[in-house]
Amino acid sequence: MNPQCARCGKIVYPTEKVSCLDKNWHKGCFHCEVCKMTLNMKNYKGYDKKPYCNAHYPKTSFTIVADTPENLRLKQQSELQSQVKYKKDFEESKGRGFSIVSDTPEMQRLRRTQEQISNVCLPLYVVYVDVNVMVLLGQ
Ligand SMILES: [Zn+2]
Ligand SMILES: [Zn+2]
Repeated sequence: MNPQCARCGKIVYPTEKVSCLDKNWHKGCFHCEVCKMTLNMKNYKGYDKKPYCNAHYPKTSFTIVADTPENLRLKQQSELQSQVKYKKDFEESKGRGFSIVSDTPEMQRLRRTQEQISNVCLPLYVVYVDVNVMVLLGQ
């Protein structure tokens, strides 16, 4: 007796069987719960006995809803935190006499401006370009 597919309920024959998450699946039925991308034993992520792709695995589900205001806020917060770290690293490096061209406070400020702008929306793209032009003129 062949087992039933956990997805479609039809019989799974050995040649098309994927045994994962304590269940049996047709190869074609073993796909991500969210985007339906076909998965295999190597790239699936199991959650709640269901297969997900790397992007839609529930523990990293913030990638699905990355554009909600709350997530943008969190993202900016963590960017700010990493800015603080950059600055600290920079100050420490400066103290030791190193010069880090790409991590000067000015470059960080520009980078952060660009990140914020790219977070907002398309009409500001012109501003983004202008910032780049200013960088070029400044050099
Ligand atoms: Zn099936
Ligand atoms: Zn997916």
